[in-house]
Amino acid sequence: MKIRIWLIKSGNCLPFKLIIKKIVILPDHKLEAWNSWYDEKKRCDPNFERDFQEAISRSKTEQESIDESTPAVSRGATKSSIQNLEVVKLDGSGSSSKNPCTICLEEFVMGSQATKLPCSHMFHGDCIVKWLKEDHLCPYCRFSLPMD
Ligand SMILES: [Zn+2]
Ligand SMILES: [Zn+2]
Repeated sequence: MKIRIWLIKSGNCLPFKLIIKKIVILPDHKLEAWNSWYDEKKRCDPNFERDFQEAISRSKTEQESIDESTPAVSRGATKSSIQNLEVVKLDGSGSSSKNPCTICLEEFVMGSQATKLPCSHMFHGDCIVKWLKEDHLCPYCRFSLPMD
Protein backbone atom coordinates (compact mmCIF):
# COMPACT_ATOMS: atom_id res chain seq x y z
CA MET A 1 0.00 0.00 0.00
CA LYS A 2 1.32 3.40 -0.93
CA ILE A 3 0.05 6.64 0.50
CA ARG A 4 1.00 10.12 -0.51
CA ILE A 5 1.32 12.52 2.38
CA TRP A 6 1.97 16.21 2.40
CA LEU A 7 3.69 17.66 5.40
CA ILE A 8 2.55 21.20 5.83
CA LYS A 9 5.08 23.34 7.53
CA SER A 10 4.81 27.12 7.67
CA GLY A 11 2.77 27.19 4.50
CA ASN A 12 5.07 25.03 2.33
CA CYS A 13 4.07 21.69 0.85
CA LEU A 14 6.54 18.84 1.07
CA PRO A 15 5.44 15.76 -0.88
CA PHE A 16 6.95 12.38 -0.11
CA LYS A 17 6.06 8.74 -0.62
CA LEU A 18 5.38 6.50 2.36
CA ILE A 19 5.34 2.73 1.99
CA ILE A 20 3.44 0.99 4.77
CA LYS A 21 4.87 -2.42 5.59
CA LYS A 22 2.91 -3.19 8.71
CA ILE A 23 -0.29 -1.76 10.10
CA VAL A 24 -0.64 -1.54 13.88
CA ILE A 25 -4.06 -0.63 15.16
CA LEU A 26 -4.12 0.87 18.62
CA PRO A 27 -6.95 2.37 20.64
CA ASP A 28 -6.40 5.99 21.66
CA HIS A 29 -5.52 5.25 25.24
CA LYS A 30 -2.86 2.74 24.17
CA LEU A 31 -1.35 4.97 21.55
CA GLU A 32 0.13 7.23 24.19
CA ALA A 33 1.90 4.31 25.86
CA TRP A 34 3.01 2.78 22.61
CA ASN A 35 6.59 3.26 21.66
CA SER A 36 8.42 2.22 18.60
CA TRP A 37 10.93 -0.59 18.92
CA TYR A 38 13.69 1.99 18.94
CA ASP A 39 12.06 4.14 21.61
CA GLU A 40 11.30 1.09 23.71
CA LYS A 41 14.91 -0.12 23.55
CA LYS A 42 16.14 3.36 24.30
CA ARG A 43 13.95 3.51 27.38
CA CYS A 44 14.94 0.07 28.71
CA ASP A 45 18.66 0.18 28.00
CA PRO A 46 20.62 3.33 28.77
CA ASN A 47 23.43 2.16 26.47
CA PHE A 48 21.17 1.23 23.60
CA GLU A 49 21.39 4.47 21.67
CA ARG A 50 25.17 4.44 21.77
CA ASP A 51 25.35 0.72 20.91
CA PHE A 52 22.90 1.23 18.07
CA GLN A 53 24.95 4.03 16.55
CA GLU A 54 28.09 1.99 17.01
CA ALA A 55 26.52 -1.04 15.34
CA ILE A 56 25.45 1.03 12.36
CA SER A 57 28.87 2.54 11.80
CA ARG A 58 30.69 -0.72 12.51
CA SER A 59 28.79 -2.83 10.03
CA LYS A 60 29.41 -0.18 7.42
CA THR A 61 33.18 -0.04 7.93
CA GLU A 62 33.42 -3.85 8.09
CA GLN A 63 31.60 -4.12 4.81
CA GLU A 64 33.92 -1.58 3.25
CA SER A 65 37.04 -3.32 4.50
CA ILE A 66 35.77 -6.66 3.18
CA ASP A 67 35.28 -5.10 -0.23
CA GLU A 68 38.81 -3.74 -0.22
CA SER A 69 40.63 -6.79 1.11
CA THR A 70 38.85 -9.56 -0.76
CA PRO A 71 40.27 -9.97 -4.23
CA ALA A 72 37.70 -10.63 -6.91
CA VAL A 73 39.56 -13.75 -8.03
CA SER A 74 40.93 -16.33 -5.60
CA ARG A 75 44.58 -17.16 -6.19
CA GLY A 76 44.41 -20.40 -4.23
CA ALA A 77 45.29 -23.78 -5.72
CA THR A 78 42.49 -26.10 -6.81
CA LYS A 79 40.97 -28.39 -4.19
CA SER A 80 42.03 -31.51 -6.05
CA SER A 81 45.62 -30.38 -6.41
CA ILE A 82 45.77 -29.81 -2.64
CA GLN A 83 44.19 -33.19 -1.90
CA ASN A 84 46.51 -35.04 -4.25
CA LEU A 85 49.74 -33.76 -2.72
CA GLU A 86 52.26 -36.41 -1.77
CA VAL A 87 52.57 -37.12 1.94
CA VAL A 88 55.95 -38.47 2.98
CA LYS A 89 57.20 -39.94 6.22
CA LEU A 90 60.34 -38.27 7.48
CA ASP A 91 63.02 -40.73 8.44
CA GLY A 92 65.97 -38.37 8.35
CA SER A 93 67.53 -39.92 5.24
CA GLY A 94 66.52 -37.21 2.73
CA SER A 95 68.53 -34.00 2.63
CA SER A 96 65.49 -31.72 2.21
CA SER A 97 63.92 -32.92 5.44
CA LYS A 98 66.76 -31.27 7.37
CA ASN A 99 65.43 -27.84 6.37
CA PRO A 100 62.67 -26.34 8.46
CA CYS A 101 59.16 -25.81 7.10
CA THR A 102 59.48 -22.41 5.42
CA ILE A 103 55.92 -21.42 6.35
CA CYS A 104 56.16 -21.70 10.15
CA LEU A 105 59.97 -21.99 10.27
CA GLU A 106 59.77 -24.93 12.64
CA GLU A 107 61.91 -27.98 12.06
CA PHE A 108 60.32 -31.26 11.11
CA VAL A 109 60.08 -33.94 13.74
CA MET A 110 61.74 -37.10 12.49
CA GLY A 111 59.25 -39.90 12.10
CA SER A 112 56.39 -37.46 11.48
CA GLN A 113 54.73 -36.77 8.15
CA ALA A 114 55.31 -33.90 5.78
CA THR A 115 53.55 -32.84 2.62
CA LYS A 116 55.64 -32.69 -0.52
CA LEU A 117 54.87 -30.38 -3.41
CA PRO A 118 55.62 -31.43 -7.02
CA CYS A 119 58.74 -29.20 -6.79
CA SER A 120 59.87 -31.57 -3.99
CA HIS A 121 59.74 -28.91 -1.28
CA MET A 122 58.26 -30.17 1.97
CA PHE A 123 56.05 -28.48 4.53
CA HIS A 124 53.87 -29.41 7.46
CA GLY A 125 50.53 -30.69 6.15
CA ASP A 126 48.52 -28.04 7.99
CA CYS A 127 50.87 -25.24 6.96
CA ILE A 128 50.85 -25.96 3.23
CA VAL A 129 47.11 -26.63 3.02
CA LYS A 130 46.36 -23.26 4.61
CA TRP A 131 48.92 -21.63 2.32
CA LEU A 132 47.65 -23.20 -0.90
CA LYS A 133 44.08 -22.16 -0.17
CA GLU A 134 45.31 -18.55 -0.40
CA ASP A 135 48.11 -18.88 -2.93
CA HIS A 136 48.86 -21.49 -5.59
CA LEU A 137 52.63 -20.86 -5.54
CA CYS A 138 55.18 -22.86 -3.55
CA PRO A 139 56.30 -20.54 -0.71
CA TYR A 140 59.88 -21.62 -1.28
CA CYS A 141 60.48 -21.59 -5.05
CA ARG A 142 57.16 -20.21 -6.37
CA PHE A 143 56.43 -23.40 -8.31
CA SER A 144 52.92 -22.96 -9.66
CA LEU A 145 50.12 -25.37 -8.78
CA PRO A 146 46.89 -25.51 -10.81
CA MET A 147 44.53 -22.66 -10.06
CA ASP A 148 40.76 -22.38 -10.47
ZN1 LIG B 1 55.04 -25.58 9.12
ZN1 LIG C 1 59.03 -25.37 -4.21
